Amino acid sequence: MPYKAISTIGEFGLIDKIAELAEPTLQSVPELLQGIGDDCAVYKPSGKLLQVSTTDLLAEQVHFDLLTTPLKHLGSKAISVNVSDICAMNALPRYALISIAVPASFSVEMIEELYKGMSHAAKEYGLAIAGGDTSASRSGVIISVAMIGEVAGELLTERGGAKPGDLICVTGSLGGAAAGLKLLMREKNIMLEHFENNEPYNKSVMADLKEYSEAIQCQLLPLARLDIVRFLHSRNIRPTSMIDISDGLASELHHICRRSNTGALIHESRIPITPSTRRIADELQDDAITWALTGGEEYQLLFTIPKAKHEVISDNREISVIGEITDPDEGIFISDIYGMQIDLTSIRGFDHFSG
Ligand code: ADP
Ligand code: MG
Repeated sequence: MPYKAISTIGEFGLIDKIAELAEPTLQSVPELLQGIGDDCAVYKPSGKLLQVSTTDLLAEQVHFDLLTTPLKHLGSKAISVNVSDICAMNALPRYALISIAVPASFSVEMIEELYKGMSHAAKEYGLAIAGGDTSASRSGVIISVAMIGEVAGELLTERGGAKPGDLICVTGSLGGAAAGLKLLMREKNIMLEHFENNEPYNKSVMADLKEYSEAIQCQLLPLARLDIVRFLHSRNIRPTSMIDISDGLASELHHICRRSNTGALIHESRIPITPSTRRIADELQDDAITWALTGGEEYQLLFTIPKAKHEVISDNREISVIGEITDPDEGIFISDIYGMQIDLTSIRGFDHFSG
């Protein structure tokens, strides 16, 4: 089937199509008085709530590789990474503005796939796609999402409020996204090798990725922990500090300690890692704990609560207590399974501009 070039429907035709795909996201946001179609989106804020806003940019070859990333997943991920930042403030996402730049080789069908993913994710999170901007690109796909959320002032959670004695909590499990990325890179290299040698790359040489689906899903289709934010609200808990894990547990814990002026001690044995992630680490002769500490794109939440609140969250199996906040002069340490304490400040996450 030949694909339709964007030039055949033009920018206005494309925006009409985008508006159609975004339409189902409007249902859950009655406060959005004007969505796609006018010069600006119009939103009626509720007087009592604080507004939080964030933006995240995804650039082809820096953040994603179209060889290993289905466009629908990419659209969903572009929404999820912003929702994750909103969640990290203990806030609820309300609407998003989406700017895209695409090369001339991009087809109408590809835009449709991208927006299907965005629209599906937006509906799941209860936020509206309210507008954006569209441009041509001379160097790959760029997707920039801006998102606005809301939270009651007494629930707003920043990075800087952790106190010595607070419990350090993490949601879900860690290391899966790094495992997924390693597997996809391995498969991509096998594929490129076959192409270079003029050998067919088909089902008979492809790894059966089904057995790795949990890790690959973590990488390609991460979910922001809005469920945890809703849980915290339902129990009337405002964590003393919170951050989302986009650059590895070590560096996020470091951010909390720096902003809160504290130290921290976490325990290796309590870091939640699934058996499937451990199995993949063994297979690739790598280390699952290192993935959990330094692997990016996890989108779990890291937060602290006073010890007295422990009982209120202890029935939620998606939350693990991994350690305790300490005095600033005690530093930031991880105790390994033998009880040896290792300085965590020497272990850093992903940095776009290092090396
Ligand atoms: P202007 O030229 O005034 O910026 P545009 O023609 O760029 O207007 O946009 C028209 C409408 O379509 C606006 O409501 C804008 O928010 C929306 N829009 C444009 N591009 C996108 C996109 N990629 N995703 C979602 N909405 C978009
Ligand atoms: Mg515009």
